[in-house]
Amino acid sequence: MKVLKFGGTSVGSAKNINKVIDILKDVSSGNQAVVVVSAVGGITDKLLNTAQLAVDKNQDYKEAFKGIKHIHLDIIDELLDDKKTDIVNFVSEKLNHLEQLLDGIFLINEMSPKTSDKLLSFGELLSSYIIAETMKSRGYDTALKNSQELIVTDKNHTNASVDFKATNSNIVSYFNNNTNSITILPGFISKSKDNEITTLGRGGSDYTAAIVAAALNVDELQIWTDVSGMFTTNPKLVKQAFPIKELSYQEAVELSHFGAKVLYPPTVQPVLDKNIPIIIKNTMAPEDHGTSINNNIAHGSLAVKGISNINDIALLTLQGNGMVGIPGFSKRLFETLSQEKINIVLITQASSEHSICIGISEKDAENAKAAIDQTFENEISLHKIDPIIVETGLSIIAVVGDNMKSHQGISGKMFSSLGKNNVNIRAIAQGASERNISAVIAERDVKKALNTLHEVFFEDNTKQINLFITGVGNVGERLIEQIKQQKKYLKENLKLNVRIVGLSNSRTMIFDSDSLSLKSWKDDLAKGERASLEGFLETVKLLNLRNSVFMDITANADVAALYPEYLKNSIAVIACNKIACSGDIENYKLLKRLSLKYNVPFLFETNVGAGLPVIDTLNNLILSGDKITSIQAVLSGSLNFVFNKFDGTKSFHDIVKQAQNEGYTEPDPRIDLSGVDVARKILILARESGTEMNLEDINNKSFLTKANLESNSVDDFYSTLISDEVHFQKLYKDAKSKSCRLKYVAEFNNGKANVGLKEIPEGHPFYNLEGKDNIVMFYTQRYPEQPMIIKGAGAGADVTASGLFADIIRIGNN
Ligand code: ADP
Ligand code: ASP
Ligand code: MG
Repeated sequence: MKVLKFGGTSVGSAKNINKVIDILKDVSSGNQAVVVVSAVGGITDKLLNTAQLAVDKNQDYKEAFKGIKHIHLDIIDELLDDKKTDIVNFVSEKLNHLEQLLDGIFLINEMSPKTSDKLLSFGELLSSYIIAETMKSRGYDTALKNSQELIVTDKNHTNASVDFKATNSNIVSYFNNNTNSITILPGFISKSKDNEITTLGRGGSDYTAAIVAAALNVDELQIWTDVSGMFTTNPKLVKQAFPIKELSYQEAVELSHFGAKVLYPPTVQPVLDKNIPIIIKNTMAPEDHGTSINNNIAHGSLAVKGISNINDIALLTLQGNGMVGIPGFSKRLFETLSQEKINIVLITQASSEHSICIGISEKDAENAKAAIDQTFENEISLHKIDPIIVETGLSIIAVVGDNMKSHQGISGKMFSSLGKNNVNIRAIAQGASERNISAVIAERDVKKALNTLHEVFFEDNTKQINLFITGVGNVGERLIEQIKQQKKYLKENLKLNVRIVGLSNSRTMIFDSDSLSLKSWKDDLAKGERASLEGFLETVKLLNLRNSVFMDITANADVAALYPEYLKNSIAVIACNKIACSGDIENYKLLKRLSLKYNVPFLFETNVGAGLPVIDTLNNLILSGDKITSIQAVLSGSLNFVFNKFDGTKSFHDIVKQAQNEGYTEPDPRIDLSGVDVARKILILARESGTEMNLEDINNKSFLTKANLESNSVDDFYSTLISDEVHFQKLYKDAKSKSCRLKYVAEFNNGKANVGLKEIPEGHPFYNLEGKDNIVMFYTQRYPEQPMIIKGAGAGADVTASGLFADIIRIGNN
C-alpha cells in the first residue's frame, strides 16, 4: 500500500487533474493506494482574501466569491463530459454554504480562528469530491473519505495538534474494512474531539498524508508537487538550483523547518518513526527522478546538501548588565513566548549571558515585545535589563547537511563568501548536531546570499561576475566583443561566468539582471532609459548581485567621483579612466583604504601602458618585498607614434592629426602633447611604488611652444601647430645631427619625477621603440643594473580592452 499526496498545482486545473489520474492508473494497478489532495491551487489564499474583504466590509467579496465558484465549476465542466448534473448540484450546494458563511462574516465583520478553519475546509472538501467523482465516472474503483472523520485534534484552530492515539485507531479501523483500490482524502482538514472543524496549518496536506502513511505503516509516502524534488535551494530564487537525489530524514526536517516550502515541516516525524521513505515527485514531469528521503543514504555524499531561507523574520534582543545570574531568566522568557503561542525559529545566546537573541515570525513581533516587556517590567524599571529591541525586515538562511560535522571550514566558507558580497550578518546559530548553520540577514540580501552560497557549495566552483559598464566608445565596444568571444572558454576553463548586466553611455542606460544580450546590446542601449550617473549607481545597488563590478571606460571626472560609493557597497571598481588615480592624493588614498576595508578590488591596470601588465608587475615586485629605486619609461603610445613618424617628410601638424584620426590620442590631443597624460601615468607608478605625490610635483618641461600651450580650443591648437612648424623641424634636426631620436620620456628617481622630450642615442633601449609602443624599465633592489623591462603596444582600443579584460579575470581569480 502507498500513500500519495497531490498539492495545489497538481490539482489546479482539469489538465493537471488528468495527469494525476494517469499517475494513479499506474500506481493502483494491483495495489491499494490512499490519495490525499490539497485544495485547487491558490484556492486557500483566495478564500482567505475573500473573507478579509468581507471582514473589511468591502462588497467586492461577492465578486471574489464568484471567482472561486467559477474555478470549480469550470474544472468540473472540463473533466466530465456527461452525467454531471448530480455533481454540479452537489458542488453548487456546497458553494451556497460557502457564500452564506462569507455573508455572515460580512455582517459581523469579524472572523475568528474557528470560522477561518470552517471557511478553509471548503477548499479541500471541494477538490477531493470533484476528483473522486471524476475517477468514479471513469470507472476506477474509488472511494471518498472525509479525513475529518479520521484525524482528531485539539482545539488550537488554524494550527491544531493531532491526537495520534484516536487518529491512528480511526485510520486503521477504516482501512481494515475498506477494499477500494483508490481512496481519496482531503488533506489539511481535521476535527476536534467536540466535532469542530480544525486545520493542520498552512501547507498541512503533506502532514495529513504522513499521518495516514504512518498509521497504516505503508511502503512509501509520495509527495507529488510542481517541482522535481527538494532542490539544493529555492528554485524560484536561484536559477542554478537542482533537485537533491537523496536526503536523510534529519536533513529534510532542517531544510523544511528553515523554509524549503516543498515539504511542510511536521510531515517527516510520523514517517520517520516508522522508517517509511518519502519520495518527492513532479506531477508535471513524472519521469524525473525526484528526491528520496530515507535512512539509508549513500555515504560520502556532499557535506552541504541544501540551503534554505525563511523570510518575514523579526529579531528580538534582550540585553542588560543585570541579566547575568537573574534566576530562571530564560525560563521566564520562553514561557512568556509560549503563553502567547509564539513559535521561536532561532536562538543565540552570548556565553556571557549578557544578551540573548531570538528569531520569530515578524507578525508576532509586536505581541512578543509587549508580553516580554511586561514579564520583565520589574527588572526593566530597575535598569537591570533594557526594554526588548525588535528588528524587522530580516530573513534566516540555513546551510544544511548531515556530513557537515566531518568537514572542516564549512562555516568559514559560508561567512567569508557572504562577507565578500557585503551581506551583513545579524546573528548566527549552529545546531548542536552540526547539521545546520543558520544566519540572520536583511531580507533584501536573501537572493544574493542564496546565489552566493549556492555557487560556493554546489556549482563546481563556478563564479559569476556581474559587470556594470559605463562608457561604450571604442574601448568599451572592443571589450564587449572580447567578452562575447571568450565567454564559453572562460566558463569551461576558468569556471568564470562573466555577464554584462548594466550598460550606459552618456545618453542612455540599460540593465538586465539575467544578463544583457551581447548580440543586440547596441540597439537595446539606444532604446534604454535616460542615463544618469546616480541612477546607474542606485540600480547597481538595488540589483544587489554577487561579485558586482563597476567598470569606468570614460574619461569623465564625475564618473570617477562615484567610486567611493561603489566600493562602500562592496562593488568592485575597474577604472580605465585615469582621473581618480592621478587626482588628489587624499582621494587616491581613500579609494585604496575603501578597497581594503570592504575587501573589494579597485583595479586600474589600463591607466598605464594600456594592456601591458605594468601595474600588476609593479605590485607583485613590491608584494614580494622588492623596492623600486628608479623607473624610466616611454609611456605615451600617441607621442611615440608622433615622433616615430616625424622624419622631416611630413609636417608635425599632419602627423598629430593622423594620430588622432587613428585613435591613438585622447579626444583632446593637447592632453597627450602637453605631457599631462604621461605625467599622470608616472605619477600613478610613483604612487603605486609607495611615494606620495601630486601632479604639481612632477617636473614637466614641455616641448610645445607658448602659442601651442595657450591655445584655447582643439582647432586653435592645430592652427598653432601649423604656424610653429619651424620649431618642430628644429627639434628634429638637432636630434638627427647628434644621431639621436626623439622620445618622450618619463622618469622617477629618488622620490622625484619628471617628464619631457629627450634625444635618445643609438644603443639605448628606447632608441628602437616602434610605432605606438610603450616601454617601462623598473630598477629595483633585485634588478639594480639590468632593469626589468616591459615593452609592447601601449595604445589602441583592442589592447586597452584586453587590459580591462585582464582586470576582470583578476577579480574572478580573487
Ligand atoms: P504544493 O502545493 O504541491 O504543496 P508548495 O507550493 O507547497 O507545493 O511547494 C512547492 C514549492 O516550494 C515550489 O514550487 C517552490 O517554489 C518552493 N520551494 C521552496 N524551496 C524549495 C526547495 N528547496 N526545493 C523545492 N521547492 C522549493
Ligand atoms: N490548501 C492548504 C494550503 O494551501 C493546505 C495544503 O495545500 O497543503 O495551505
Ligand atoms: Mg505544500
